[in-house]
Amino acid sequence: MQTRRIFLKMLFGLGAFTLPWIGFDNKLKAAIEPLMKQPKVKLYVVPPEAQTIYEYFQSASLNRTAMDDILALSAPEMEGRRTGQAGEGKASQYLSRELSMLGLKPMGDNDKSYAHAFTIHEVKETFVGNRLTFTVSNPDHLRAPSLNILGGLMGDTEEIILVSAHYDHLGIFEGQLYPGANDNASGVGCVLDVIRRLVRENTVPKKTLVFAFWSGEEMGFLGSKAFVRNPSFPLDRIKAVINVDTIGNGMIGNFGLWADDKAGIAVEAVQKAAAEVSASAMVVSGNGHNSDQITFAKAGIPAVTLLAREWLENNHTTQDTMGIMKREQVELATEIVYRAVRNLAF
Ligand SMILES: [Zn+2]
Repeated sequence: MQTRRIFLKMLFGLGAFTLPWIGFDNKLKAAIEPLMKQPKVKLYVVPPEAQTIYEYFQSASLNRTAMDDILALSAPEMEGRRTGQAGEGKASQYLSRELSMLGLKPMGDNDKSYAHAFTIHEVKETFVGNRLTFTVSNPDHLRAPSLNILGGLMGDTEEIILVSAHYDHLGIFEGQLYPGANDNASGVGCVLDVIRRLVRENTVPKKTLVFAFWSGEEMGFLGSKAFVRNPSFPLDRIKAVINVDTIGNGMIGNFGLWADDKAGIAVEAVQKAAAEVSASAMVVSGNGHNSDQITFAKAGIPAVTLLAREWLENNHTTQDTMGIMKREQVELATEIVYRAVRNLAF
């Protein structure tokens, strides 16, 4: 009796599970079909002047400013943009999206991708004074994938002017966020604003403009080195490099240049542009030059980095925040880079 009851229960229970699901596929199809025919849900209010969603996003992107970019990239959600970690991924997505919305040609690993992939080795954190830095821990041990982000504005010729800024920073260390607003969300915002201005003007440059956002700079220029080792276009097409790093602080109009004695045309273009807006951009003498222009100089390409003379203020500390950013200084740097680009590529 007992066994029979259990058997019937089992049979019934099994039926309860199986019977309604017989012919599931057809029922599901029937249920979904009318939904598929319904108009799509409107997620965004498209202004009447915008013809398509793309135009709407593009106009939203064109209306952003360098200060918006700096705020977004130094926000806690970006986790200090440490190469090889989640924050870098979020920042690289932000950059790809902006380049896509602004209509730039993907110049990464293939003609459909803004991303140029590489791997980074192990590093360890070291304090030099109060500055957090990375030192190579095990150069042979590949640790994590990373991405440079590149997009182009096609010119009439194959010759290239490369405009770049590194977007990585130090991440979170011992529970402390290193936001890297000046180093180097400021340079990234500056380069994005130069792109926006050129896209708004809608003119075709003589030389092609490639905009590159390097990662791995804080670990020893790993992103730009990886690009020179494995470029997505022949390096001899690059006629000059203007790199932008930590431009948002200090005395207004007081900029410096890192460049070697072969940087000629790049230095001249930036200095002419600075003079036009009554700013100073002297080459900083000495050996403290420390950004991605070095990678290209070593490859024999004229390359310069524009920076604020007082770039060391709060550099590589938790205090490198929006609080030390000066809108006027960021706008002036953008004006200088824009004029230098016009000077070299138009
Ligand atoms: Zn740095």
